[in-house]
Amino acid sequence: MDIAIMGAGLSGLACAITLKKNGITPTIFERRSEVGDRFVNGEVLLSIFTRPVHDCIASLSEEYGIYLKPAGNIQKMELFSKNKSAIIEGHLGFTNIRGREQGSFEKQLEQQTKSKIRFNSEKTYEELLGKYSHVVIATGDGDYAKKTRNFREDFTVSIKGATVEGCFDRYSVMAWLDYDLAPYGYCFLIPFSEKEANISIAIPDLPANADVNLNNLWGFFHEKVRSQLKQELPMTDQFQITRYPIGICDAARIGNTFYVGNCFGTTLPFMGFGQYASILSGVYAAYDLCGLGKYEDLMKPLRQSYQDSLVLRRSMEQLSNKGLDLIVHTLQGYWGEKLFQTKTINPLKVASYLLRPYIKMKNRKTT
Ligand SMILES: Cc1cc2nc3c(=O)[nH]c(=O)nc-3n(C[C@H](O)[C@H](O)[C@H](O)COP(=O)(O)OP(=O)(O)OC[C@H]3O[C@@H](n4cnc5c(N)ncnc54)[C@H](O)[C@@H]3O)c2cc1C
Repeated sequence: MDIAIMGAGLSGLACAITLKKNGITPTIFERRSEVGDRFVNGEVLLSIFTRPVHDCIASLSEEYGIYLKPAGNIQKMELFSKNKSAIIEGHLGFTNIRGREQGSFEKQLEQQTKSKIRFNSEKTYEELLGKYSHVVIATGDGDYAKKTRNFREDFTVSIKGATVEGCFDRYSVMAWLDYDLAPYGYCFLIPFSEKEANISIAIPDLPANADVNLNNLWGFFHEKVRSQLKQELPMTDQFQITRYPIGICDAARIGNTFYVGNCFGTTLPFMGFGQYASILSGVYAAYDLCGLGKYEDLMKPLRQSYQDSLVLRRSMEQLSNKGLDLIVHTLQGYWGEKLFQTKTINPLKVASYLLRPYIKMKNRKTT
């Protein structure tokens, strides 16, 4: 069995590590000159989105032999809507770095990868399929899945972000659900050290946002964070992504081609989280290749999380700032902590179950 992995990101490297542990050496093709050769970004792993797993770092090491050191553990989340705020405390998840920094998740995975990575190597899927018995597509977006008519794109999102310098509590993240700042979207501040944080704004490319200028919003948001934190927050690194597709594959595996990571559709539509699912998808593809499970079956819970999260996204699009104020207000205190701390229920699943009839009714009204 000759296996080619396209892409040395989270899912591709997790796949390679798991294959090697089981005695198979894949060849990894990476189009860039090094792992993580992209913008630096602070990201989060929030346990509310990884249920039933509460501590995904522990689970990755104990269950799958993938060892990752986060930048910090999140002990506090401050949530802001237009007129309300909530503070949620407890063990909420982790922050981590992505990109070209030494401690980034992709660099950490590279260190655990015992297979050769061929850099500056952008082979097409067709070329690899001609040479290898199996191809794992881990390219980080749905392009190849689209090309092979295996991808349902649900919407696209435009994102702008930057690394800012300042003085931060690295155990605390901030999120804004305020449609004046980001219509139908969200903003984050994620520290990855005491001195650096990532700020980002993401808005879905809905018809209602057609006249929205992301650069203007960005200016307002940066100003808002500066005044809230009473700091200058100079930017050291900026990025912008236009029309990032959010969608999911119809089939996780077609013949001997495996769609993993965001090429499968591991990024959750609600607020764009996908790191944990991407790593798991790489591990699961390797399990299938090693005869330890069926990829399609193993991916079912991740597929379900995507669908549940899509319901939340569609519901979010029906809300106004008034509705967001109500939600944020409700999350302050008992309910917020209950929702984020509970280990027995999956809040994403429950919320989506309760909201499904409402979304159906709205859809019926608009068609
Ligand atoms: C701005 C932003 C913020 C995010 N924030 C969060 C967050 O806070 N929490 C969270 O959980 N998730 C977050 N996500 C989502 C998360 O980053 C992704 O789900 C995850 O990185 C997907 O992993 P992957 O393996 O599919 O792709 P990646 O890790 O992106 O890896 C893809 C690799 O494939 C390579 N490649 C591409 N095309 C080719 C080709 N043709 N040949 C060879 N190599 C190729 C790329 O160079 C790259 O190295 C965020 C995403 C974005 C864009």
